[in-house]
Amino acid sequence: MASVLLKNITKIFPPQAASTQADAPAKAVDRPVLEDINLTIADGEFMVLVGPSGCGKSTLLRLISGLETLTSGEIWVGDHNVDALPPKQRDIAMVFQSYALYPHLSVYDNLAFGLRRARSKTTTQRPSLLSSILVGLTRNLPPALRYQSAAEQQIATRVHSVAKMLQIEALLTRLPKQLSGGQKQRVALGRAMARDPQAFLMDEPLSNLDAKLRTETRAQIVNLQRELGTTTIYVTHDQTEAMTMGDRIAVMNAGKIQQVDPPLALYRRPANRFVAAFIGSPPMNFLPVTVKAGQLVHPSFAIAVPSNWPLDTYNNQQITLGIRPEHIAVGQTPGAFSATVTQFEALGSETFAVVTLAQSADSRDPDSAAGQSLQVRISADQPIERGSVLQLSFPTEKIHLFDDSSGAAIFSEATLA
Ligand code: ATP
Repeated sequence: MASVLLKNITKIFPPQAASTQADAPAKAVDRPVLEDINLTIADGEFMVLVGPSGCGKSTLLRLISGLETLTSGEIWVGDHNVDALPPKQRDIAMVFQSYALYPHLSVYDNLAFGLRRARSKTTTQRPSLLSSILVGLTRNLPPALRYQSAAEQQIATRVHSVAKMLQIEALLTRLPKQLSGGQKQRVALGRAMARDPQAFLMDEPLSNLDAKLRTETRAQIVNLQRELGTTTIYVTHDQTEAMTMGDRIAVMNAGKIQQVDPPLALYRRPANRFVAAFIGSPPMNFLPVTVKAGQLVHPSFAIAVPSNWPLDTYNNQQITLGIRPEHIAVGQTPGAFSATVTQFEALGSETFAVVTLAQSADSRDPDSAAGQSLQVRISADQPIERGSVLQLSFPTEKIHLFDDSSGAAIFSEATLA
């Protein structure tokens, strides 16, 4: 097990390769797909890379594994700079979305494959003549009666212990085509685990599974990773997967890391509007407000700003207020404003309503943002229908504010705490 250090990593695909990408025909060819990525994944850490399609997650994983070459930067695994090493010498195991099992080998042999290959590379010792003869003579007997060399016995011990951990012992004699999707995924994980590598790289390994199996396998991967303590870098575009699995999450967009933090810190203190919009489901609401005389003024409401909020430099400027659906208070309170329900989804445990803000009487700006829609979480017990009028307010301690030109958080929940 080892830490993984990514230092100033940039990747530019050569022009001819970029033009063959069906999804990027008109793209400027020399624009980096990854730009100045710096990230340290601690020994034993579970790091999730999350971001929208095309942001460069898989490319970063492929660079770490050695399947792609760096344009510039350095990759260190423990004390070793691995930039010049081919994939096989990096001692890193990768699990792909497509499983990539050998179709003609049994589950046992798929699990044993990497161990046998690693052994044949590290040893020059050939099996004795007697051992080879015994293997040949007993090859067609049931597995329990076959002769195994000492090396093969060690491999068998490892394969059985991994198979036990993943609960696939009963499947060891089957071929991949005789397995369900979830079983194939566990064999793919087992193959990576059997080698006991310095690090696991996982590229959307659950995306071929149905929702229920995905949730189960998610928990299983997290438990196994904790048990084994193997440094893991896990790619997903699914923010729920990221939030539930990672010790820390690196949120990426357009080839750059936007923020690296533990899940709850990302939720509570997003560094910018992109992260605020990406993390959380349903997503955060954003409203334009103007900072005026100690207030955040919107055509539908005005919120008094606590005196310690650092907004002096924004006086008379427009900024963006962010508030999560689950943080909007519903009910008549001083300063509450009206909103009309246009749609709602009653989930049983809670209800999500889409509401339209009413324009306040003293704000008749034709370009105003009144009439804007918001998502609000309301209690499942509250009777609701289309056209219901709700009284809403934004608790100041749950408000996030973003600079309109840079998108950076001016400050957010708990920053002042
Ligand atoms: P997804 O979630 O859809 O898998 P991703 O975040 O993993 O996306 P990458 O697969 O890393 O994104 O791709 C990042 C960008 O690099 C994309 O614009 C893609 O078209 C481009 N790209 C990837 N591989 C190559 C290649 N071999 N040659 C040229 N461009 C490439």
